[in-house]
Amino acid sequence: MNTEQGSLSINSENIFPIIKKWLYSDHDIFYRELVSNGCDAITKLKKLSLIGEFEPADDEQYKLEVIINPDEKTIKIVDNGVGMTADEVKQYINQIAFSGAAAFLEKYKDKTSEDQIIGHFGLGFYSAFMVADKVTIDTLSYQKDATAVHWESEGGTEFTMEDSDKETRGTEITLYLNEDSYEFCNEYRAREVLMKYCSFMPVEIYLINATAEPEEEDEEDDVIDATVNEDGTATESEETEEKTEEAEEEPKKKGPKPINETVPLWAKHPNECTDDEYKDFYREVFHDYKEPLFWIHLNMDYPFNLKGILYFPKINTEYDSIEGTIKLYNNQVFIADNIKEVIPEFLMLLKGAIDCPDLPLNVSRSALQNDGFVKKISEYITKKVADKLSGMYKTERETYEKYWDDISPFIKFGCLKDSKFEEKIKDYIIFKNLEDKYITLAEYNKDETGTKDNKKNIFYITDLKQQGQYINMFKEEGLDALILTHNIDQPFITSLESKDETIKFMRIDSDLTGSFKEEVAEGEDADKLKEEADALSELFKKVLNNDKLEVKVEKLKNAEISSMVTLSEESRRMADMMKMYSMPGMDTSMFGANETLILNANNKLVKYVFDNKEGENVEMVCKQLYDLALISYKQLEPEKMTEFIARSNKIMMLMLDVQ
Ligand code: ADP
Ligand code: MG
Repeated sequence: MNTEQGSLSINSENIFPIIKKWLYSDHDIFYRELVSNGCDAITKLKKLSLIGEFEPADDEQYKLEVIINPDEKTIKIVDNGVGMTADEVKQYINQIAFSGAAAFLEKYKDKTSEDQIIGHFGLGFYSAFMVADKVTIDTLSYQKDATAVHWESEGGTEFTMEDSDKETRGTEITLYLNEDSYEFCNEYRAREVLMKYCSFMPVEIYLINATAEPEEEDEEDDVIDATVNEDGTATESEETEEKTEEAEEEPKKKGPKPINETVPLWAKHPNECTDDEYKDFYREVFHDYKEPLFWIHLNMDYPFNLKGILYFPKINTEYDSIEGTIKLYNNQVFIADNIKEVIPEFLMLLKGAIDCPDLPLNVSRSALQNDGFVKKISEYITKKVADKLSGMYKTERETYEKYWDDISPFIKFGCLKDSKFEEKIKDYIIFKNLEDKYITLAEYNKDETGTKDNKKNIFYITDLKQQGQYINMFKEEGLDALILTHNIDQPFITSLESKDETIKFMRIDSDLTGSFKEEVAEGEDADKLKEEADALSELFKKVLNNDKLEVKVEKLKNAEISSMVTLSEESRRMADMMKMYSMPGMDTSMFGANETLILNANNKLVKYVFDNKEGENVEMVCKQLYDLALISYKQLEPEKMTEFIARSNKIMMLMLDVQ
């Protein structure tokens, strides 16, 4: 073949800057594109050999090599796949890629750069020009009597083609890196990028450092300690001197182990995978030393192809923020983490890998969002997760309860975000109660006294210590309450209430339920209590110098209790919300001001106060009763605390008659 020259036509001068900017925001993606092209070429050859169109050698070893040269600043990607004839280079490299580019431009010329596409546009090969000034292809087709072709282009707009001296079947792509991209021929960086995108590609991939001296190469592990310089070379740290026995046994020049796993666990049939394999996969992919709680292996062929494994991670503490990772693959090629357009938002709290070869990735993210097919995928995943959880509840309730604290934030978040998920899971949501048992809402013995709208009360606790006083009262009365200590619980119960009009969640300190009070008969008794209430209310307002103070006098069964404070559920929720949305530095104390002071008419101290309104020490007793009530409700502010302590001391002195 004579040397052939050509221009890569169609406004190619305009295309490249745009492609460079828009196509992939991450330049490292060229590795993915070129390596996956090489893998494709080998997969094609394997298929040809299956149908007898290609006769592999007896010792045929299909493989792909990535050869970096930090001295020359080059990267070679070498496969022994189908290769290309000159005509194929013309067709696939010179033309097709550019029609892809034209289509790409046409579609995206008006879009902003934020609207990234997550797949590719038949432009994979040209991503090489994001990092290289000059790219060459040497390729020899598997076909009989094929001649090798050399293709070369600088900057991607002009090319030359001529005969090549390549003697082995397959394709060798050489990138002469531009100055900004030298990092990619650094061994450590190259490995990192290859691990990210190519860990599960279906052909064995080897990373080779062409400059590595045999001895240095042995210290493979130490490369991790090296720092990457601007020019892509590595400065090795002191530790390189220490060799490990193991490393010394490794062959020279080439690590014997491919960097990838050619059959990822998700591609195997669930029946063929062991628990240990699932755990190993989890550790390797997510670098999480904690074992996952359990997992779901998705394996679907119809109506679409989807395989994957979703793990429920162990959460460290109740208050840990949970943030998962869902890795999306397309035919074993890594696409990206946490693509919210494909994977339901709440599932991102999990960790997992999903491979969906049918996904239309060569569209923009916003297009994916409105794609009916993508919606079906997302629904399928959601359904599988709900099925797994409900199945566990029904057949392994003990295990389910054991995991509950870890999985409940995820489930509650799922309910808030996805009504279909909620529908499927709502009967399997459990709550811990005062007896330390897990019960469903249906199992909770609702308080029938009801609120003003005749709803059934469901009492709950948000802080076991702070609300301890109220908890004790509840226990004494044989009443139950649910323990809801996680941040997500508040929005979650609000949502439950909005969906079931017959229930009302009440924090344990929001009101005194009927069961604590004595029945007060209409008539004389009630009138007397009313009179007492008015007098005491007036007295406390005056003493505490607070006109707005709400005072209620009740006959509590437990005569030991003198005073208590409650804050209505509505006021507290409102106050919490205001605090959440308030500006930093804003005074939030005013939001919590509507507490009600409850005085127990059956208590002797309260009776004393009522009978001796003008008494010498009554003012002090009133203040003390109020503070005591507040203390079991919340922490006193520093000045109030100081006052309270001083007063308490004074009371003791009076009691003991010390001067
Ligand atoms: P795509 O992979 O989406 O088709 P690319 O730009 O990555 O787009 O590649 C264009 C075409 O060039 C491929 O479809 C293939 O026919 C050919 N090609 C690229 N790399 C190789 C290779 N290593 N071996 C054989 N053919 C290749
Ligand atoms: Mg490609």
